[in-house]
Amino acid sequence: MKIFCIGRNYKDHAKELNNPVPDKPLVFMKPSTAFVKGHQTFYYPDFSDNIQYECEIVLRISKYGKSITPEYALGFIDQITLGIDYTARDLQIQCKEKGHPWEIAKAFDFSAPIGDLQDYESFKNQSIQFRLEKNGKIVQTGNSKDLIFSFEQLIVYISKYFTLKTGDFIFTGTPAGVGRVQKGDILEGFLMGRKVLLSIIK
Ligand code: ZN
Repeated sequence: MKIFCIGRNYKDHAKELNNPVPDKPLVFMKPSTAFVKGHQTFYYPDFSDNIQYECEIVLRISKYGKSITPEYALGFIDQITLGIDYTARDLQIQCKEKGHPWEIAKAFDFSAPIGDLQDYESFKNQSIQFRLEKNGKIVQTGNSKDLIFSFEQLIVYISKYFTLKTGDFIFTGTPAGVGRVQKGDILEGFLMGRKVLLSIIK
């Protein structure tokens, strides 16, 4: 199973981290050891003092595909949910400064929890709203209509380079409002108003 993640896919988030808006999707990956489903505890790792949440729409790939064309792209999604792209921002800043790859900051164990999967069919042909609450207060709101690169465009682009397989996931990028977590925080993600994700920091 592969986990693809997209950086800077909402203009307002690119701006808040002083990053340029990309002209092509910015793709990175997380290993299967980053993936967590159905386990709601995130243990704060000891290698970072600045772990941040990034709440994102997550797509599940339903079949094998390579060099997928736009008209077929959405047919490769069968389920959708929210996930958190946990990021060690302090390590990421160091990696970026040196021009190094940022896997240690982004792809560490348990850095990619996802929520309850929903059938994609009922989400088709509409803009998909979501929000993240931290300790009961809204910290991020997003809408798929504000994506720089749409779901179709991401699938077309990723599948040019990587064969997609059943059970792969795509984290589609985070809107503005990313921030730190601390031990004791409770994160809850809502997709179209429905709670699908819980992550408790310990
Ligand atoms: Zn992200």
